[in-house]
Amino acid sequence: MLGVIAITIIAGALWAGLPSGPAKATETTAAAIAAPANSEPSPNPPVIRNLVVARGDTLMALMVKAGVPRGEAYAAITAVSKVYEPRDIKPGLRVTVTRRANEPGDPLLLWGLDIDVDVRQRVALRRDDAGGFRAVSLERALTARVVQAGGVIKSSLYLAGRRAEVPAAVLAKLIRIFSFDVDFQRDVQPDDSFEVTYERLHDEAGAAVAEGAILIAEMVLSGKRMRLYRHVTEDGETDYYDARGRSVRKALVVTPIDGARISSGFGRRRHPILGYTKMHRGTDFAAPRGTPVYGAGRGVIERAGRNGAFGHYIRIRHNGTYKTAYAHLKGYARGVKRGKRVKQGQVIGYVGSSGRSTGPHLHYEILRNGKQINPKRLNLPSGRILKGADLARFQAARGALEERAAGLPGAQRTAGAD
Ligand SMILES: [Zn+2]
Repeated sequence: MLGVIAITIIAGALWAGLPSGPAKATETTAAAIAAPANSEPSPNPPVIRNLVVARGDTLMALMVKAGVPRGEAYAAITAVSKVYEPRDIKPGLRVTVTRRANEPGDPLLLWGLDIDVDVRQRVALRRDDAGGFRAVSLERALTARVVQAGGVIKSSLYLAGRRAEVPAAVLAKLIRIFSFDVDFQRDVQPDDSFEVTYERLHDEAGAAVAEGAILIAEMVLSGKRMRLYRHVTEDGETDYYDARGRSVRKALVVTPIDGARISSGFGRRRHPILGYTKMHRGTDFAAPRGTPVYGAGRGVIERAGRNGAFGHYIRIRHNGTYKTAYAHLKGYARGVKRGKRVKQGQVIGYVGSSGRSTGPHLHYEILRNGKQINPKRLNLPSGRILKGADLARFQAARGALEERAAGLPGAQRTAGAD
């Protein structure tokens, strides 16, 4: 906790005053602020409005909507801006406006304003004794608990994951970890399986408020087990490594798309999913229109525009040898144009059915020296390989992680199959 918290009880008021000193405190303080001074029913209850920020809303507009006069709202926003940039409010944020009269029957005054910025931060404004406003930024202390889930895949990894109660955001991360090597359209088969060990963040009341990092990611594809460990090297780089300390990161990914949304490759009948053949020199990923397409690797956009039967098309030059191309797009991500640099995993466009196409899908090509190549033959060197002291540190951390995973109580293990 930061600083000494002085709590002033206003007689009969719902809240105590704000902490003095540094404009930062923990959620414990917030709880103290929000706690009723006593349990007697107040003859002068506050009027509380819970609002959700909509697109185009400003803090001023929200407060006016909640009945706060403009002058008061302006003074409150001035105070808030000392700890938070009011223009940063975005759609979906929860804002609570509290008004209260000095005496029963008096006009309502702005008493408090709370902005839930994210799971870690809340901004709280209170009227002070002198009739002015004070705002603080409150940081929630979150604790991480490790949970594990896994299951057998019957139709898609996404469905199996949801069945095992793995949050969508964790599944998306899991897929991205494996997307360097796995073609999520074709490599996943019925009875393959997955297991994920990840952190769940809890607030001080014990409620799960967010998902943290994936610590161990495992997929068993056609009997081949791939088990990867999150590791932060001394230079601060976070990556996933196999048991021998080899990073799975590569210069190009095999699945350059939000893999959770890929229509399952098996059991589909409506339109055949083409893999790389002599006739078809690319890889198709069937996914709903609008699914984000990622740049497969770092590079410079060489072309972004209409390209005949390919429709809306992007080509990235990665180095002197490799290029990747993306066709039948619905459109381009903002700022994607010729000459622009892109990072690996950056959204460059969206799945569509432009050009000569039978339905929404991404046609992806990897070009080596100008010729399309089968991604299966793409033998890119793996990323970083840990050695010496780095490797020893990794192996020690991996051992501890495995021990922790093995010790997870049965109640926290879930299993499911879709
Ligand atoms: Zn194709």
